[in-house]
Amino acid sequence: MRLSRAFLPTLKETPAEAQIASHRLMLRAGMVRQTSAGIYAWLPAGLRVLQKVGQIVREEQDRAGAQEILMPTIQNADLWRQSGRYEDYGEEMLRIKDRNQREMLFGPTNEEMVTDLFKDYAKSYRDLPRNLYHIQWKFRDERRPRFGVMRGREFLMKDAYSFDVNPEAAQHSYRQMFLAYLRTFARMGLKAIPMRADTGPIGGNLSHEFIILAETGESQVFVSQDLLDLDPLADTPDFAGDLAPHVDRWTQHYAATEEMHDEAAWSALAEGKRVSARGIEVGHIFYFGTKYSASMGLTVQGADGKPITPEMGSYGIGVSRLVGAIIEASHDEAGIIWPDAVAPFAAAILNLKAGDATCDALCEQLYAALGAEAVYDDRDARPGQKFAEADLCGYPWQAIIGPRGAANGRVELKRRATGERLDLSREDAIARIK
Ligand code: ATP
Ligand code: MG
Ligand code: MG
Ligand code: MG
Repeated sequence: MRLSRAFLPTLKETPAEAQIASHRLMLRAGMVRQTSAGIYAWLPAGLRVLQKVGQIVREEQDRAGAQEILMPTIQNADLWRQSGRYEDYGEEMLRIKDRNQREMLFGPTNEEMVTDLFKDYAKSYRDLPRNLYHIQWKFRDERRPRFGVMRGREFLMKDAYSFDVNPEAAQHSYRQMFLAYLRTFARMGLKAIPMRADTGPIGGNLSHEFIILAETGESQVFVSQDLLDLDPLADTPDFAGDLAPHVDRWTQHYAATEEMHDEAAWSALAEGKRVSARGIEVGHIFYFGTKYSASMGLTVQGADGKPITPEMGSYGIGVSRLVGAIIEASHDEAGIIWPDAVAPFAAAILNLKAGDATCDALCEQLYAALGAEAVYDDRDARPGQKFAEADLCGYPWQAIIGPRGAANGRVELKRRATGERLDLSREDAIARIK
C-alpha cells in the first residue's frame, strides 16, 4: 500500500473519548471509526489485523477438528422461546420486528440456532461427534459500551458448538477447544490464562475463561506464577488422542476470577507465587450437557436403537476484542508494537527523500519484493512525521531509506519492538523482513 494513496487517516491529537491505550491508539492509527455508540467501521489497516486474528483462530479451530459454517446474524425469536432464553436474555438482546410483525433479533450468540440446524441433519450416533463454528458479528446492547472495540455493542466473535454422544466424549471435545485456545492466543503473542469460571446464563457445570493480564482489564483475577511460566506452544497435542494430561498441566495450578476465587486455596500458595491482577476476557468455553438439545428436541438414535440426547458445549473467542487486547499487551509511549503474526503490514518503507531518483528506485525495489505486506511511505513529508507515524502504527519493521545509504545500496532496518537498528544490503533487508 502506498501511503500517498492509502486510506489511513492517522490522528495527531489524542481523541478525548478514549480512556485506555488500545482505544486511543486504534483511533490514532486510523484502524477504526465509531459510527454509533459501541459500533465501529473497520478501516483498511484495522481490517487487515482483524482478518489476521480471525485467520489464526480459524486455523486452530480447523486443526482441532472443528468445521467452519456461517450462520446468519438475524434470528427468529421463536427459536429462543424454545430454549426459554427469549425472556431471560433481557436488555442486552436487540429485538427487531420485520414487516409482517414477526419477532426477530440480532444474535448475541448462536446456541439455539446451531442446535436447531443440527437437529435437521443428525439422525444417528454416527453423526456424532461434530463441532461446528462460525466467525460472525454479534450484537449485545451493552449497558456501557466502552474501551473501543473491547466492549462494543456489535462485535466479531468466533463461536463453536460441539455435539457428543455422552459426557466422556463431550469432555474430549471440551479439551480439544481448551488446547486449541491456548495455541490460538499464544500465536498472537498473548499469554492467555485459562481460569475456572462461572457458567452464567449459558448454564452448565464446567467452564473456563481465557484471560490476559492487563492493568485496564475489567476482571480481578488470581493466578499462580507457575501457570504464567508455562508455554502453550511447547508441545502440539494429537487432538484425536488422550488430551487429559495436556489439560491437566494447565488446570493443576491455581487460577480463578473473582467470582470463583477461593481464599483458602489461595492462601495455601507460597507468597511469591501469588499474582493478583486485572484481566481481559478474550475467550470462554462451556460444557453444558443437554440444556439446549433437551429443550429443543435434538435426539439421535443410539447404537442400541434407543434415542440419545447429545451432550453439548459452546466455545467463544472475541475476535474484535482481541485486536484491542493485543494492543493493551503490546504498546509504548510512541504507539502500537504489533506481534509479527497479526501486524497489518510486516514493514513500512520510509522514503526520507521522495523525489530523489536513487531513494525512489531503492524504495520501489523493496516495495516490489515485499508486496502486500509492506506499506510504502512515498509521501512528500518530513522524515520526523514518517518516523512518528510508523512508530504509532506499530509495523514490526521500518526500512529507512535516505540519500546517503541509498547511494551505496544500503537500507537501515529498525525493529519496532526493540529499537534495534541494522545496516543491510537490499537483499538482506528483504530476507530479514520476510
Ligand atoms: P464480558 O464478561 O466481557 O461481558 P461475556 O462473558 O459476556 O463477556 P461471552 O458470552 O463469554 O462474553 O462471549 C464470548 C467472548 O466474546 C468473550 O470471551 C469476549 O471475548 C467476547 N465478547 C463478549 N462481549 C463482548 C463485547 N461487548 N465486545 C467485544 N467482545 C465481546
Ligand atoms: Mg457480557
Ligand atoms: Mg464474562
Ligand atoms: Mg464469558
